Amino acid sequence: MGAILVHAGSYPSGAFRFNGQNYVPIADWARANGLHCVWLKHGDEMAATNRTTRLVFGVDSHYVEINGIQVALSFPIANQKGVALVAQFDLDAAIRPLMFPARYARPVAIKTICLDPGHGGRDTGNRVGWHYEKVYTLALAAELRDQLRQAGFNVILTRTKDTYVELPDRPALANQRGADLFVSLHFNATEEARGEVEGPETYCITPVGASSTNARGEGSDHGPTPANRDEGESLLFAYQIQKSLVGNLDAEDRGVRRARFAVLRDARMPAILIEGGYMTNPYEGKQIYTAAYRHQMVQAIVKGILAYQKLGLPPPPALPVVNHHPGKSGGGPSVKKLSGVGE
Ligand SMILES: [Zn+2]
Repeated sequence: MGAILVHAGSYPSGAFRFNGQNYVPIADWARANGLHCVWLKHGDEMAATNRTTRLVFGVDSHYVEINGIQVALSFPIANQKGVALVAQFDLDAAIRPLMFPARYARPVAIKTICLDPGHGGRDTGNRVGWHYEKVYTLALAAELRDQLRQAGFNVILTRTKDTYVELPDRPALANQRGADLFVSLHFNATEEARGEVEGPETYCITPVGASSTNARGEGSDHGPTPANRDEGESLLFAYQIQKSLVGNLDAEDRGVRRARFAVLRDARMPAILIEGGYMTNPYEGKQIYTAAYRHQMVQAIVKGILAYQKLGLPPPPALPVVNHHPGKSGGGPSVKKLSGVGE
């Protein structure tokens, strides 16, 4: 089920192989999935669109833009004699889950959310001047906890004070407590181009057989981690969060990315790591240090969680058949709270 139909037409199967991967002509894949394909810049940038979705593929790029958000691919887009190609691996591991969320989203209600304020104690995280990352991740987590509780979720934290917590203990707590989601909170820093690099990034686990977006010598020869079981859900979750952060903060989109971070690897539930922005950016750094901006970020994350939750909910049932009592007018039965998602 769910095999990608590619019009064999003019191409023998296995005709396109790069990077040890089977590649598929984007135009064929798009046509088979009811998308309309055009070159935006001939030989360089291709768009595939339907009524609800717009994908933009850049030749040689390791990202695909999906409805305005960059999503990391495991293998770059290729152009072979004027035919734009995408790796079958990425269709399966990145594009399909996002295009057809109903097939991947968990049909379980989200009750408990585990928040993981990055670093703590002797581990300060990034340091920019007198600003320590560990302080801002905890402040963000505390406010996010309050907001999520108000929205009706049960929330647990991997630390509530300035204490050191080993990396493996963080997802382990989420596992022990049966959390339905795991969210690790961080702020970023860069040595180079401090003035230019800004914006949130949201990470989820790297697919088995691929290298991470942030690969520092990490190859593709990694076996599955416990987190790969929920790989599709984690990607959907990361996408909703990144979309909400970029939209609500009016921030630069640095994309949905993949990494085998220690805090993600062992999580047995949809798990993401948010890098809320760059402390090293002169403008964004100052924003991160203000309660007002973090408040906005908290609201964006809550919205993202609610949007993700909505994907897994069954479609609202048809309106119930109500016996009409002519004598009782007005104030019919309320069907407002069917989905339980207040927006
Ligand atoms: Zn960090």
